[in-house]
Amino acid sequence: MPPKYHRILLKLSGEALLPEGAASGICMKSASHIVAEIKPIVDAGVQVGLVIGAGNIYRGATASAAGAIDQVQADTMGMLATVMNSLGLQSAFDSAGMPASVMTSRNLEGVAERFDRRRALNHLSKGRVVVFGGGTGNPFFSTDTAASLRALEIGADVLLKATKVDGIYSADPVKDKNAKRYDTLTYLDVLGKDLKVMDATAISMCMGHNLPIVVFDVFKEGNLEKVVMGANLGTVVNG
Ligand code: UDP
Repeated sequence: MPPKYHRILLKLSGEALLPEGAASGICMKSASHIVAEIKPIVDAGVQVGLVIGAGNIYRGATASAAGAIDQVQADTMGMLATVMNSLGLQSAFDSAGMPASVMTSRNLEGVAERFDRRRALNHLSKGRVVVFGGGTGNPFFSTDTAASLRALEIGADVLLKATKVDGIYSADPVKDKNAKRYDTLTYLDVLGKDLKVMDATAISMCMGHNLPIVVFDVFKEGNLEKVVMGANLGTVVNG
């Protein structure tokens, strides 16, 4: 059976690379696990773009809320931290023998290529995974919004939002045993119920261009492949 999606944008939180029990850092074992989950879909011919956050290293809004640094500077540091994660993932792809390019929102000559839509599409068409680092390149945005932006720019069929839980719940399922899991939601449901799965800017961008979002548990082995093949997993957000 052919995959349901031919070109995807996978959004991972920086926390996906957080070493167990640590407050910050990059765990290369976790990076390798993620790469192992991506391999079968690349082998099946699916084009994969990736955006990773930096919650495992630095978040601008959290840092600036303490008052010692202004948010523009702190967000720039956050964006650079996403580049560190992107390079970590690239190394994990290298180790797995999978070609992967890192493209950044700002010039980082000698570190990674500057984002260029045509070049990104060229990489994808050659079977290379493209990791989009550096967020949108602008402060006051999140990597969720960067994921929506890059997904739209590369013409992805879907934005896959990887989380630690198996979809969107009415409340935090860890804290509330009555929390209900949704199979499908509209963009307006997510915004109206303030479900905090992605920030409102990211959801609005997807809504404006009818880009479906699938929220699923990426840490369960084989889940990513199942979602891409069309299994009913997680929560689908669409119009
Ligand atoms: N960031 C930014 N602009 C962007 C994307 C990210 O300024 O377009 C900064 C911001 O400080 C943010 C940090 O990079 O807190 C890390 O991104 P994010 O918080 O989205 O990471 P995640 O929560 O996904 O790990």
